Amino acid sequence: MSVRSAWSLVCAMMAMRRRSLAVAALISGAILAAALVAAPAAAPAKPAAAPPGPPAPPPIGYDDTPMLPDGKWRVHDGNRPRPRMVTPPSAVPPADPGRPPSDALVLFDGKDLSHWQTQGKGPDKGKLVPAAWKVENGYMEAVPGAGSLISKESFGDCQLHVEWASPAEVKGASQGRGNGGVLLMGRYEVQVLDSWDNITYADGQAAALYGQYPPLVNASRRPGQWQAFDIIFEAPRFEDGKLARPAFVTVLHNGLVMHHRQQLIGTTGHKQVGKYTPHEPELPLTLQEHGNPTRFRNIWVRRLTGYDEPAPPPAAK
Ligand code: MG
Repeated sequence: MSVRSAWSLVCAMMAMRRRSLAVAALISGAILAAALVAAPAAAPAKPAAAPPGPPAPPPIGYDDTPMLPDGKWRVHDGNRPRPRMVTPPSAVPPADPGRPPSDALVLFDGKDLSHWQTQGKGPDKGKLVPAAWKVENGYMEAVPGAGSLISKESFGDCQLHVEWASPAEVKGASQGRGNGGVLLMGRYEVQVLDSWDNITYADGQAAALYGQYPPLVNASRRPGQWQAFDIIFEAPRFEDGKLARPAFVTVLHNGLVMHHRQQLIGTTGHKQVGKYTPHEPELPLTLQEHGNPTRFRNIWVRRLTGYDEPAPPPAAK
């Protein structure tokens, strides 16, 4: 056999070998595919049991409350967008409380609770009794269970300044953290809450018109730091037992606008759409006690008049 013939024979044998391997691969693949189709699906592996940990947090907000008049959101709607965080200007409030304006009635100057009282309990139920919050170091601090503070003086249209601080030691979550409130006429609440890194329903966070409108932004300071509300309130008017003009409120939180002459839907409340019920043209202010040791200081109020009117007395009793 010549060299050329021998090489041709080798090439022919190699070609036959490649064809055999290809056929074998096809047969193997078919057998494997058939086996996969015929085989029952393997049961999914059971996930490992979760290690024990803290209980899941309660859901934020509600999905079963009544709709607000705008038809878009429920009261305390858990899906309502939460306002974005904004760092407030550094100068408000200063480290020390500022001096009130000369025509203001100072409701708390850091020394005593002489302008405040509270609802009695037990044998004093139905009566107003001396307030029992803690006063020290220039501030007052809510005592859980001691009740809300009610001003001795009454106000209608007014400008109100309140400084407050949620507890420096963070305890609780959502509505249970640094809760308090400034209730104009005892029934229209601007919410006080620790809203620093504390998720709650939008219409319940700090500076919200509780259950009605979230603040435009979240200008909260850290727990324990002093914060300021400046509120301009126009009281509702009633004529012949009916609402003649709703209330309007403007709120600045740490110097930033949260509400701009916003019309209130009615009284503020939990899980309900507020309604107006006729009341006096001037009523006491309430500082809410909500089970948390929230602090307040430097509280003053100015009664408002229209243009060209004489200065009003600071307050009506
Ligand atoms: Mg509150």
